[in-house]
Amino acid sequence: MPPAAPETAGGRRRQPDELMDELRDWLGDNWDPDLTVGEWWERLGLAGWAAPSLPTDRYGRGLLRNDAVRVQEVIANFGALGPPAGLGLLLAGPTIAEHGTREQVDRYVRDIVVGATAWCQLFSEPGAGSDLAGLTTRAVEDGDEWIVNGQKVWTSGGQYADLGMLIARTNPEVPKHQGITWFAFEMHQPGVDVRPLRELTGNALFNEVFLTDARVPSSAVIGGLHNGWAVANTTLAFERSGLGAGGGSGGAGAVLPGTVAEQLGARAGDFVSPEGRRRTRSRSGSTAPGSAKLLIDVAKANGRAADPLIRQDLVRLHMMGEIGRYNSLRWKAARAGGRDIPGMANISKLQMSEMVRLSSDLGLRIAGVAGTLYAYDDAGRAALVAATGDPTAGALAAMALFAPAPSIYGGTDQIQRNIIGERALGLPKELGNERTVPFSELPKNR
Ligand SMILES: Cc1cc2nc3c(=O)[nH]c(=O)nc-3n(C[C@H](O)[C@H](O)[C@H](O)COP(=O)(O)OP(=O)(O)OC[C@H]3O[C@@H](n4cnc5c(N)ncnc54)[C@H](O)[C@@H]3O)c2cc1C
Repeated sequence: MPPAAPETAGGRRRQPDELMDELRDWLGDNWDPDLTVGEWWERLGLAGWAAPSLPTDRYGRGLLRNDAVRVQEVIANFGALGPPAGLGLLLAGPTIAEHGTREQVDRYVRDIVVGATAWCQLFSEPGAGSDLAGLTTRAVEDGDEWIVNGQKVWTSGGQYADLGMLIARTNPEVPKHQGITWFAFEMHQPGVDVRPLRELTGNALFNEVFLTDARVPSSAVIGGLHNGWAVANTTLAFERSGLGAGGGSGGAGAVLPGTVAEQLGARAGDFVSPEGRRRTRSRSGSTAPGSAKLLIDVAKANGRAADPLIRQDLVRLHMMGEIGRYNSLRWKAARAGGRDIPGMANISKLQMSEMVRLSSDLGLRIAGVAGTLYAYDDAGRAALVAATGDPTAGALAAMALFAPAPSIYGGTDQIQRNIIGERALGLPKELGNERTVPFSELPKNR
């Protein structure tokens, strides 16, 4: 993605501190805990503070990523409710802002930044995960609509979504990367069957989605017909950089947008504590991944902080976090100068996987036998805390149970290494004829 145009004042670039002061003033004038969530998000989103890294003419403020992360911190520290959680703000908004027409930006991105719609990502299929371009969900033209048939899987938040980022095959008679289209797909329609999948944590974060003669209008094609592979790569780049080490939370707050979660009518102030910290916990029940600070606190509290092996790994974890932060600053500086560092999004995502693995292992070593305690719902969590007297009881087990996920979603660790090898190090691509042979003629598993 090219660097977003930074905000300017009187022809000069605005300094981040000036912007943060402007934000604090704005919050002083606008935050009111008695607004509904929907009313508050409308103010926040239309002022450009919900998605500040989007361009200024596309519901953002043209900030670079680190400054956008600071915006979230300022909002949280002020004690106001943060922007909507989820994949709309993280992936769909930036993708449509980059590839959509003006009309599509006003139709979709506006509703994303004000939290009116929730989105899911309809990319992976049972036979197409790492080999995403091998997808078989078909979209067939019917007048000014497309009829969609196929199956998606691992669809995070599909049960709350109003719209989906759908990639489907619109031309099987060309090589596989060339016949795919990216659609903004309406989830509330006949022919869309969302079935939850339960994970190790006991939560059902993701779903399988069956599409049977579902419909999507031609006006919902984003980035051009058959050009979906390029558009999907934009989505994946935002996913990898948003989830990578040093990337903050990628724009996600803790309150869910959209019509299904039914939180838009609730009082905004009920989602923040008097000290300003958000009350809600993440749906996975996990603590922040890769956080050395949390583990240092736990090690101090249960007397393990003097163990030299624990100390060594705590420092390793802290250093990995710092390297991620410095890499992110390096990338920011390069982009501000109109350059890029090839493979940086992949490197930071890989590093986040490493940090989550180390945190999980370290957390269980620090916790000892208490690390086996876990509860599958709010009542169970409350009982666990009451029985142990430890407000973080179960949190380290939750972190460990969720730890395999970051090395899989957004492209597995192996796939990140392949990309770094090919695109950053210039190693030869895997041999094969899939870039020249029509998709319909390629061998398939089924
Ligand atoms: C928590 C979570 C949330 C997710 N949310 C979503 C979502 O919202 N929407 C969505 O569309 N998808 C989602 N996914 C799916 C995710 O993108 C896929 O799981 C991922 O791309 C891997 O695909 P796969 O599971 O089919 O594994 P496969 O592609 O079958 O891979 C199996 C193994 O083979 C390895 N492998 C495959 N190809 C190669 C190769 N060329 N070189 C080296 N090794 C290789 C992989 O690294 C992996 O270890 C989610 C996954 C998780 C875990």
